[in-house]
Amino acid sequence: MCRHLAYLGPAATLASWLYDAPHALVHQAAAPREMRGGGTINADGFGVGWFVAPGKEPVRYRRDKPLWSDVDLPGLAAATTARAVVAAVRSATVGMPVTEAACAPFAGDGWLFSHNGRVVGWPESLATLAAELPVTQVMTMPAPTDSALLWALLRARLAAGSAPAAAVATIVSEVLDAAPGSRLNLLLNDGETIVATTVTHSLWVRRLDGGVVVCSEPLDEGPQWRPVPAGALVTATPDRVEITDIEAAQVPG
Ligand code: GLN
Repeated sequence: MCRHLAYLGPAATLASWLYDAPHALVHQAAAPREMRGGGTINADGFGVGWFVAPGKEPVRYRRDKPLWSDVDLPGLAAATTARAVVAAVRSATVGMPVTEAACAPFAGDGWLFSHNGRVVGWPESLATLAAELPVTQVMTMPAPTDSALLWALLRARLAAGSAPAAAVATIVSEVLDAAPGSRLNLLLNDGETIVATTVTHSLWVRRLDGGVVVCSEPLDEGPQWRPVPAGALVTATPDRVEITDIEAAQVPG
């Protein structure tokens, strides 16, 4: 069910995350090791987004085909460095379109967002939450998928001024109330902080020299990878990784 990754730290090539590491995303696409809830490969598209300068919207490259089949990206990725990245490979949930627009990362208002999982009973289960969305969020929803709706809900909260970690925790709990059993590994990066959740899928964190990487599966066999427990909210910057309970991080009321 999709694999995703976020990085913050010293400038590194996009290729480090997509191709070069022993279990880079291209390998997690073709031969993932920790898929739960159905799906055996992530061949329905991919995306990579990265921040180019403070205050500037991130840049993205997405395609609706397997990462391993893109012949031009290896060269581009080797020649492009970034200090802040979100990348993902997709295994489309049954009934959802296989299009570029449905591939993470979603972007807007200075954020990159990815969702690994599935909303049970979508779209009906989220009708009440969706009905409260500002019309601008409805009109700019990138694709008719559960992930895009989660992004719209989160974006509305962020736009209303909620702190990122609280916004993510609150969306997760509201969606779990409306659609129990949903799989909600969310990943958000604004170029300075990564916020991630674990609701039924795997997630790992590794501190690097001056940086941090959060990923569905470890990128190598190194002992420094730390598994994130289920039901957790990760807030990570290059110098600090905090792991708390999602419940504790919600906005009251
Ligand atoms: N449900 C989302 C989609 O179809 C995410 C899929 C996944 O995590 N495999 O895009």
